[in-house]
Order: sequence, then structure tokens, then C-alpha cells
Amino acid sequence: MELDGEVAATHPVGVEAERDDDGSQLWHVVALSAEGIISTDEQQRILLFNRAAEEIFGYEAEEVIGQQLAILIPSSVRERHHEMVDRMLAQGTVSRRMGERHVLRGRRRSGEEFDAGISFSTLRLAHGSIATAVVRDLTELRRARDLARQSESRYRTLVDLSPVGIFTCADDGTILDANPALVAMLGAESAAAVRGQSLPARFADPECWDRLRDGRFVGHAHAPLEQRLWRFDTGHVDLMLKFRRAGGVTDAPIIYGFALDVTERRRLEATVSRADHLHSLGKLAGGVAHDFNNLISIIRLCAESMRDDPAIPGESRLDLEDIDRAAVRAGELTQQLLAFGRRQVLHPRPLDLAEVVLRNEGLVRRLLGEDVSLRITTAPEGTDVLADDAQIERVLVNLITNARDAMPTGGNVSITVGRAEPSALERAECLSLPPGPFVRLAVSDSGSGIDPATRARLFEPFFTTKDVANGTGLGLASIYGIVLQSGGGITVASAPGEGTTFSLWFPAISAKVYPTTVALPNGDVPPALRLPLRVLVVEDEDGIRRLVVRALERRGIEVRAAADGPAALALLTGESPPPDVIISDVVLPGLSGQQLVEQVAAQVPDVRTLFISGYSRDAVQKHGRLRPGSVLLPKPFTAEQLMDALARLLAATPASPASAAPTAGAPSGGGHAPTLEVSR
Ligand code: ADP
Repeated sequence: MELDGEVAATHPVGVEAERDDDGSQLWHVVALSAEGIISTDEQQRILLFNRAAEEIFGYEAEEVIGQQLAILIPSSVRERHHEMVDRMLAQGTVSRRMGERHVLRGRRRSGEEFDAGISFSTLRLAHGSIATAVVRDLTELRRARDLARQSESRYRTLVDLSPVGIFTCADDGTILDANPALVAMLGAESAAAVRGQSLPARFADPECWDRLRDGRFVGHAHAPLEQRLWRFDTGHVDLMLKFRRAGGVTDAPIIYGFALDVTERRRLEATVSRADHLHSLGKLAGGVAHDFNNLISIIRLCAESMRDDPAIPGESRLDLEDIDRAAVRAGELTQQLLAFGRRQVLHPRPLDLAEVVLRNEGLVRRLLGEDVSLRITTAPEGTDVLADDAQIERVLVNLITNARDAMPTGGNVSITVGRAEPSALERAECLSLPPGPFVRLAVSDSGSGIDPATRARLFEPFFTTKDVANGTGLGLASIYGIVLQSGGGITVASAPGEGTTFSLWFPAISAKVYPTTVALPNGDVPPALRLPLRVLVVEDEDGIRRLVVRALERRGIEVRAAADGPAALALLTGESPPPDVIISDVVLPGLSGQQLVEQVAAQVPDVRTLFISGYSRDAVQKHGRLRPGSVLLPKPFTAEQLMDALARLLAATPASPASAAPTAGAPSGGGHAPTLEVSR
């Protein structure tokens, strides 16, 4: 190809088509080239400018032919560029590929600058040299590469931030890569620590991997599969795994894996199903216990009444005492079942948990014996809760008894009371703790600890690992009911051989809510009953009603009785004088004891109320509060205890809704001693 000097824009330099077919052919190649081709003479004037160059630079060829090459170069690099072209022209025939690594800048007609990859050659001809550049606009390439890079980085970030474990494995289960979520699930320090490790070796069921390989892939994916894996640090993790296999024809197959950590979900499900199980057991136990309470009441009232009969021979009296003792013991058991079923009438009042523990230190020491050392730590303040004093003492005694039994050869027990916040795990274990703050009563022992199988059934009634003489399996069941009924929860930390800590969480209250109290006359000798006295008895259980009426009438009390609320109200409409006292069951068919008393009080404002109950569903629903000033006598009770309660009720200062009394002392009567409570 020769340089002609005068060049047309659309003609290659020096081509004379009629005598140079090759040149003409070359011209077509140049014209059609997808890359810009520009030639200049030694003065760097543009001689050739093909169509692709027109597209890249935005100039028509006619506009630039004869112009200085500099118009295609940004001013900032023009001088340097000029020198470089000069230098190459001076070197004679050379060709150099530049571009990619040494990107040059071009300037479009619009003034826009761009990166260009350039191949450059100079050709010395007879009439001088020409320089030719093949120009590639890198803008699109760069943009595509940037987009690819951004997209890659976005996907990388997505994988890195994913809460789902994402990993790749070789076909033999060797981990190739893992995202941070999987690294965390496996308890490893970094992705590098898991790379190259065998995933199947972590499976708790080592055969699972083989099963997977031997056909559980449906097509290229397999159904999600739950597996327990050993973590790199300690313990295990339950993962829901889904695999997908790809490749395998020309390259080695790769398994793409996705993992969800279901450990917490499984644990929670187990807790919920345990709680459900306990709830239904509680319903059953509570229902049975309630009915038993009525039966035991009848047994005790009958035995008592027969004992009082002078016609009964001495020998039979001894039998009657045995009957009564057995009934007392049966009553204690039903109390525990009621506690578990959360159907016990609780008498919550503000109390200082620390004070309850310190007050019972002597009893705790005696229970533990000399070979167990005891440490009690209580916070100086902030340990007030709303709970039933007597029940908390019972809870403490049960926990201490269990601790002692777990340390047959002695050990250490510590009791701590103070404000604490349950951890997320502890909250999950309790399921339904209200928002804080909490007072925690913790009892720790250095005993045998609890294995997982026992741990799962700990709060079930009648579950015991002790022999018949030492265990009833009702201790923890009743603690469970009492604590839950008090709005709290229980957590257990234990491992075989490492001792046990039971933590009881009670919602903390401010000491300022302590109400003023009026005391019910309390003491060994009940105040004498003053006659005449008119009592209205309302009880749906025929046997109990009959026996209560008989016991009252024997003491000269004027009694009217009804089986339910409407019948009782009907008795009030007659001519006879209004009653001084209503003795009513709490739970009655139709009108509840509470509602009945409200209606009677509307007609007879100064009537006193003695509730009798095996449990009080109503009372529980109303946060354990009965009508202000009323007294509650739990079933089963003896006639003596009934009289005692009546006498104390009548001797007490009439209670107003603003006042309340704490638990009055147990009335005399021996055996099972019900606790009286004046409701606030
Ligand atoms: P009981 O004491 O009559 O067996 P509980 O309901 O109080 O009934 O306890 C149930 C079971 O829980 C016990 O038999 C024992 O296996 C286990 N347990 C309770 N407390 C502890 C403890 N502190 N250490 C070890 N095991 C305990």
C-alpha cells in the first residue's frame, strides 16, 4: 500500500482501484472493521478515518480528514501523545499493541473523554511515513466489567450476610467454601478453618451422608433433611440441610448446600410441648384434686361428727382417728396436686423474698444437716414480690429437700435472692414471662446433677427417681404450679455430676405498693362465738352442705341453706331476719360465690362472708382477690376449723376495701391446718 498524499475520507490511502484489486479489497476490510482505524501523515494530519472511527469519535470523516490528530486527543494528554507519535514515526516501521494495560484517552466530538485500547503502527513509505492506529472504545467493556464486578460483590455480600448457612462441598463431602453463617453454626473460627474439612465427619449420624449420596438426590436436589452436627467448638447444632448437586459431566460435581439452624426452634418446641403436657396434666390433676377435696371434707366431717357421738365405743374411736389422719394426709396430697394444677387459692401479698429466706434459715439448716454447708446471699433491697408467703416457704422447703437428697454424702448449697434479668435462653425456657424487672430466688447444690431424661420430666406430678419411702414426685410439680400461678417462671441449670441450680423468677414489685393491713385476731384460742347468730350456707355439694349445716346447728347457730345462688337469694326475700354471715362455696353453678355475695351485700350491707373452696377458679381469674373483707377457708376442713374461722371472722374489725389483712394463723384443730385469709 502506497501513500498518495491526497486522500479521500472514504478511500484508503494511495489506493488506485483500477490497478490494485488487493488495495480495493483492503479498503473494504478497513471500512467494515468494527474497530476505529485512523491514519496520519508525518505532521500528524489525519489521512484516513473509517466508519467505526466515526462512530467512536462522533465526527464525520470529511470533517476530520486533513485535521490534526490532536482534535481526537484530550488537551491534558495532547502534548505527550504528540511526542509519542513523533517518536514512533521517527523509528520507521514499527507496530505496537497498547491499550488494555496502557490505556490511552480519546476525546469525542461532544468533548466527552473515554478510555481507548489502541494498536499502533508506523509504516515508512517512499514519500514519507504514515502512522495508523486501531482504536477500540473501552467504555462499554469497562462498564460491563464494572457491572459484573458490582454484581459479583453484591452476590458475595448477600451470601456473606445471609442468615442461612451457604456452602459448597466436593462430592465426598469436603467443604470447599462456607459463608459466615455456616461458620458460626458450626462454631468454627473462620471460613478458612472449615475449608478442606469433611462435612460428613460432623454428622451425628455418620450414615446419613451415604444415604444422601445413595439416592436421596431427586434429580439434582434432595428434600430438606434435618441432621444433628457436631460443632467445631463444643456441643451440637441441629441443621435443616438442603443440597443441590451441579456439574459432573466435564468437571467434578459440586454440592451446593444451604443450612438453617433449627436448634433453638427444636428446643422451644420441646419446651412448648412439655409445657402443654404439664398444662393438661395440671388440668386433670387439679380437677381430680378438687373433687377429692370435697370427698375428703365429707370423710373428715363425718369422722369428727361420729367421734363426738358418746354412743361410739372407744375402739371405734381409734379407727375414726385413723380415718381422720388418713384424710389429713390425703388432703395434703390434694393440696399439692391443686398447686400443680394452679388451682390453689393463693393469697398473694407483697412480701420480701430475701426476708422469707432469712427467716427460714434455721429450718433450712436443719433440713440440710451438718454435712452440708449453706451460704445465703440476699440483696439488701429490691426483693419485694407479690406472692403467697406460706407457699414460698413450701417451695423453699421442697427445693432444699431435693438438694439434700442429691447430696447423700454432703456438699454445698447456696441460696441467693436478688434482682436479675433472665437471659433470652431463660426466657425461652419459661415461655411466658412478663417484661421485667424480676427477683430471682436461686437454690444451687453441688449434688448429683440431673440427666437430660430426668430433666425432661422434672415437673411432672408423680415423677420421681427416689424410692417409694422418699419420693412422691409432687415437690417440683407443686413448685411449678405455685411459681407460674404467681406470674413467674422456673429455669433449671444442671448436668450430671455438676450440681443443680433452680432459679425461680418472680415479677418484682415496688415496696411502695404495700397496703395497710388490719389483722384478723390470731392466736391459739379462737374467740368465742356470740349467739344468736344467723348463717346462710350456700354449697352445691350436698354432703358438705349437710355436714356444715349440722356442725353449725350443733353450736346453736340458726342456719338456712341453699345449693346455689338463686336459691340463696330467694331465701332472703322471706320474712325472716337477714343473715349475719354467708358461708359460700366460691365456685357455684350459675351465679358464682362472688356474684352471690355482691348481691346479698347490696341488700344486707354489713353481712360478713366466709368463702369455702377447694380451689377458686374465680379467685385465680380475678388475681386471687375475693370480696374485700371476706375470709377464705380452704377445703378440706373440720367442723372445728369451720367454727374457728367463723369466730375469727366475726371478731375481726370489719374490713374495708382499702384495708387488708395478711394470713391469719392456722386455727387449732390438728392435722391439716387450713390457712385463713382476709381478702383485700
Ligand atoms: P421427689 O423429690 O418426691 O422425687 P420432686 O418433684 O421434688 O419429687 O423431684 C422429682 C425428681 O427430680 C427427683 O426424684 C429427682 O430425680 C429430681 N431432682 C429434683 N431436684 C433435684 C436436685 N437438686 N438434684 C438432682 N435431682 C433433682
